[in-house]
Amino acid sequence: MIELTTEVATYFPYAEVRPFQGEFIEVILEAVKNGRSALIEGSNGLGKTIAALSACLPKAEENDLKILYVARTHRQHDRVIEELKAVSRKLRVSGVSIRGRHEMCLNSFVTRYASDARSVMEACEMLKARDRCPYYRSIEEREEEYSDLRHRIALFPCKASEIQKICRRKGFCPYELVKASLADVRVIALSYLYVFDPEIRNVFLKSLDTPMQNIILIVDEAHNLPETAVEIASSHLSLFTLGQAKIEAEKFRYKDIAGFADIVRNEVERATEKIGKETLVSPEFLLELVHEKAGVDEPQKFFQHLNAVGYLIKRTLLADGKYPRSYIHAMGEFLSRWVETTGDESYVNVISKYTSRKGLPTAKLEIVALDPSKITAPVFSSVHSSILMSGTLQPLEAYAQITKLPEDTVKRVVPSPFPKEHILPLVSCGVTTAMEKRTPEMYGKIVSRIEEVVQNTPANTGIFAASFEVLQALCSSGLEKALKKPFLHERRGMSSRENESMVADFKAYASRGGAVFLGVQGGRSSEGVDYPGDEMNSVVIVGVPYAEPTPKVKAQISYFEKCFPELGREYGYVIPAMKKASQAAGRAIRTLEDRAAMIFLDHRFSTIYCQRFLPLWIRDNLKVLPDKDGVIAEELAVFFRNGS
Ligand code: SF4
Repeated sequence: MIELTTEVATYFPYAEVRPFQGEFIEVILEAVKNGRSALIEGSNGLGKTIAALSACLPKAEENDLKILYVARTHRQHDRVIEELKAVSRKLRVSGVSIRGRHEMCLNSFVTRYASDARSVMEACEMLKARDRCPYYRSIEEREEEYSDLRHRIALFPCKASEIQKICRRKGFCPYELVKASLADVRVIALSYLYVFDPEIRNVFLKSLDTPMQNIILIVDEAHNLPETAVEIASSHLSLFTLGQAKIEAEKFRYKDIAGFADIVRNEVERATEKIGKETLVSPEFLLELVHEKAGVDEPQKFFQHLNAVGYLIKRTLLADGKYPRSYIHAMGEFLSRWVETTGDESYVNVISKYTSRKGLPTAKLEIVALDPSKITAPVFSSVHSSILMSGTLQPLEAYAQITKLPEDTVKRVVPSPFPKEHILPLVSCGVTTAMEKRTPEMYGKIVSRIEEVVQNTPANTGIFAASFEVLQALCSSGLEKALKKPFLHERRGMSSRENESMVADFKAYASRGGAVFLGVQGGRSSEGVDYPGDEMNSVVIVGVPYAEPTPKVKAQISYFEKCFPELGREYGYVIPAMKKASQAAGRAIRTLEDRAAMIFLDHRFSTIYCQRFLPLWIRDNLKVLPDKDGVIAEELAVFFRNGS
């Protein structure tokens, strides 16, 4: 085991260093010292958060650099602050976690109508400009008290929720308070968007008052980054928005815009009649439509006109005490972006059908980004160091290429700290969800293998299917009947609240004899939710979650093929699927004390090709079982008996 250097030991707050945590720290320490980036895979239970902080703090304190720790969930942001609180018992260190304005705002006029971060930002800016927010006004009215509070926040690690609580009591805007303290704190825990969305970053950097080259960036759960980057660079315009834009234009007497929105809506709707689920369209599809059907000669100029009118409407609504939302503005922005991305082969244009929240069929126009590096590379090339870490990053070279990490990035896989006897990864041969093999007999066989797992698991079992179709087929093949435990399963279109409540019910069964939960890989319950201890003793992965080969997926593969010859399918199709499977499998192993069996029900996981994409902590212990009834039961019986 590696000893911590004195500089790291000054910050590391715990008496013991976990197995391989020292190696993890050393890789980051060296990279940061030399102004390089690090791409580092390490499994759960390693203590990655405190390892990364302890490795970055010496350089940050010495050179007055800021540490931005980006993660997806509030829980992860809070974890950063909790670790900093532990550090600050040894040595003073400052830090805050921030949430979006839409989550911190206390003004009920804004929160009541908030639909997304952007509309909250616009509403807030307008309210402030017109002196209509009491929480903002009190900052000026009680300047001394506010400034005092701001200085106090910059002294100790503080969570966004704690700041919100204080502000609610004192009547100050928590968002403004956090923003004002950013320039004075060392560590900031925040969402990916603050760093990777160029528009949000520009605003954020002004409050930070720190140039990019003075930032050490830590990206937690970095396997999410390519997908998030693509989402940031993509946008869509729905039939609903077009319909609302027409109504809005009529209301505010913009006859030309009402007619325009109506024509575009009708033409897009007509185009959807001839397609299946989705189709690629050329950029000219919309430009010709705008020109020939709607009679617009200078599209860009007209789209700017839409933006200006939309902005005016927002101001008028606010002056009338109404929420400043404009569908015309949303339409104008999308259309301007369509023109901007025309001719750029890293974008494709799509018309797709989907089901609305009310369960009705509808459609949208999309600008789909294919190149995550357009979003990530400008960040990586301008910060002091980027530290990207996760339990599922392999193959590292592919990740580095897709996101365009600097050439000299240090790439390392740190071994798993879990004792071998705590993890039992098994592949069952003779079963698969490969499309051509999806027969009732195959599903019957999969159900009977799941039954073996459930019967030999002491408490809870999680099952993650390759897709909703597979989930549905398992249900129709008598899965519930075959199990002797309470059974809960995800449904398409479930709200996140319904999902959370179902997961909480499932977890509660852990102390009451156990239950079975069925979800999908890549879904809400298979990523970002932890099931420690008996909350998931065994996890079953049913099938390889390859995406449906839609036009978008095919476009992604051919784009990567163009950028990385011979690797397009691997980068655009295989790796995303294997990441989903690995993430789902890792749900049951969260702390070093956990013991879990992972059963991969698809023979494709037994191939050398697929195993290349599994993280080391699965691959190293993977046992391939023959196509025979009862072998899973035998393995599980021994595994759980030894652990009891
Ligand atoms: S100033 Fe603060 S409280 Fe007021 S609207 Fe903006 S975010 Fe909300």
